[in-house]
Amino acid sequence: MALLNAAPPQTSAAPPEVDVPALTAVLDGRYAAVRDLVRTNLAEYADILVDAEELSIDDFRERVKDVVVEMAATGQTGMGFPEEYGGGGDIGASVAAFETLAYGDLSVLVKVGVQFGLFGGAVLQLGTKRHHDAYLADLVTGRLMGCFAMTESGHGSNVQALGTVATYDPAAQEFVITTTRDDARKDYIGNAAKHADVAVVFAQLEVGGTSQGVHAFVVPIRRDGRACPGVRIEDDGRKMGLNGVDNGRLWFDGVRVPRTALLNRFADVTPDGTYESRIENPNRRFFTMLGTLVQGRVCVGGAGINAAKVALAIAVKYADRRRQFEARSEDEEELLLDYGLHQRRLLPLVARTYALHFAQEVVAGQLHAVFSDTDTPDEEDDQARRELESRAAGTKALGTWHATRTIQECREACGGAGYLAVNRFAALKADSDIFTTFEGDNNVLLQLVAKGLLTDYASDFEDLDQLGMVRFVTGMAVETIVERTSVHKVLERVRDLLPGGDEGDSEAGLLDPDYHLAMLRFREEHLLAGVARRLKRGIDQGANPGEVFSTVQDHVVAAARAHVERLVLEAFVAKVAALPEDDNRVALTLLRDLFALSTIEADRAWFMEHGRLTVQRSKAISRAVGELCRRVRPIASDLVDAWAVPPEMLRSPELVG
Ligand SMILES: Cc1cc2nc3c(=O)[nH]c(=O)nc-3n(C[C@H](O)[C@H](O)[C@H](O)COP(=O)(O)OP(=O)(O)OC[C@H]3O[C@@H](n4cnc5c(N)ncnc54)[C@H](O)[C@@H]3O)c2cc1C
Repeated sequence: MALLNAAPPQTSAAPPEVDVPALTAVLDGRYAAVRDLVRTNLAEYADILVDAEELSIDDFRERVKDVVVEMAATGQTGMGFPEEYGGGGDIGASVAAFETLAYGDLSVLVKVGVQFGLFGGAVLQLGTKRHHDAYLADLVTGRLMGCFAMTESGHGSNVQALGTVATYDPAAQEFVITTTRDDARKDYIGNAAKHADVAVVFAQLEVGGTSQGVHAFVVPIRRDGRACPGVRIEDDGRKMGLNGVDNGRLWFDGVRVPRTALLNRFADVTPDGTYESRIENPNRRFFTMLGTLVQGRVCVGGAGINAAKVALAIAVKYADRRRQFEARSEDEEELLLDYGLHQRRLLPLVARTYALHFAQEVVAGQLHAVFSDTDTPDEEDDQARRELESRAAGTKALGTWHATRTIQECREACGGAGYLAVNRFAALKADSDIFTTFEGDNNVLLQLVAKGLLTDYASDFEDLDQLGMVRFVTGMAVETIVERTSVHKVLERVRDLLPGGDEGDSEAGLLDPDYHLAMLRFREEHLLAGVARRLKRGIDQGANPGEVFSTVQDHVVAAARAHVERLVLEAFVAKVAALPEDDNRVALTLLRDLFALSTIEADRAWFMEHGRLTVQRSKAISRAVGELCRRVRPIASDLVDAWAVPPEMLRSPELVG
């Protein structure tokens, strides 16, 4: 197999000339106009960044609500809703708009997410025409404010164990909603403390004394600013961030709602009290319902990636102006970005942000395709939906962790100036932190990803809980899983790509994307096969499935993370391959290689432990990462400019000029 590039990268090569607007067009893709509309609106509301620091919590919440309602009037928050209700009828556009909002104040973003994504999305996806007719037009404009009341103090990740109960009363043809115990109060619910008049409440449905599992109901909670009878509302109070969003708690004391309040797309109760659903298996029904809400996860992942862009845009531009120490010439000190260490700290993060951006583009495209497909669902659609859910979970986890890590590094990279609120990092850190937890805790999400991988997304296993999954995996011969994951084939591929084996030329093929992909695929498949082997061994030794799963959980999460990183690299490789041969492609190729090699470098201990890296090769990879950083350095400012964060959102004139 031909090596694409056998020589190590050279600093002396002339840097590519980045065409910034053209690169922005590549990044913005088919939704460039939507993203520009949001950029313009963000710039108009730039003073909200100051309000976030100066207003009282109450005033800031009102301000955020007003901005959200005003933005709704521009159409940018309703792009995913059907046109007959005032929406834009384009799911991909709604994701693009939401992602771009993350350049601005994140309370506004999250309030938009709660109102239109969570509340609106639940009515749209779980409800039927009667609910759409009753609510969508008003919620799209913000005339009707609502909330999404799923989490309880006792249960967040484990939604199937919620304690709120909705009991059907056939005599009155009503559901009676009750908070059955202290920890069944709804908690952290965005919009609940102040602004929502209506809640979509998730509760255990009981019909004729039988529990049918978690279902969603539209429940009025507030009228004329006061809690409805039987509803108790409490404010969650000040939070670490996002203080423009009014999160609160809800209790229901025998609150009656009509039979039609059940969001009945997947299940219904007849007037005389018969439960009906076309999905017989309760587990599958539950996961099908939740699966329709996947857009929220896709959106939060994209928002995390864009929050990271803001931080990097500030830190890179600052590093390109700020001078400290080590005068190279008599009268000027060295630019921070000319220090190798500073390059090493920031530029792999720039590369990873680009990689995640393109991976996000893939998952948003899949979301659009799956949810715009109005044909009768068939098996292929089911498979596509399961893959979408897995990819959305994985990209959300990696994208939001990346935001948290990047924002901290960028803050430090700006020194003391980074600590001043005016320079945005205070808000970025505090407001984006929770992205790793809401819309699914990242560690829990990665376990879902692993479950999909271990069961190969087979529809028969969708209804398996974790323990069922363990039993399934251990019931298969490990060889079957190893065969399916084809580790052995990947091993051969990695060897092919290293002429002379591990002992050969340690620089050879370092910049070959096939080599990068083979390495990440090897890691993923080896980890996955290792999980299967460990599960089987545990069960064979007589341990119970729960115990076995718990023991191997770190391997489970590592396998999922490796899988998602491979998908991210694949997206980057495919994107670059599709570009015309010009300097922008050269620039993105540098970033692609930097992402791939810094990812391998970060896990070099694992690769060495598993015989995939010699000491020499590992050192060659570190050298190549340093060299790539030096080659990216001259174009670093252009690369962050291409994200087109509105200058008003960078806010810090003394940092970014
Ligand atoms: C600002 C904010 C806004 C929110 N908005 C809403 C909203 O509008 N509507 C709504 O319904 N909810 C909302 N939430 C709730 C949010 O979705 C939950 O906090 C989240 O799902 C996590 O649940 P939890 O807090 O109960 O954490 P837990 O599920 O208790 O998790 C705590 C820790 O335990 C770990 N853990 C949990 N299960 C496992 C396991 N099986 N194996 C290994 N580790 C595990 C997790 O990784 C995590 O680190 C919001 C929360 C916040 C803070």
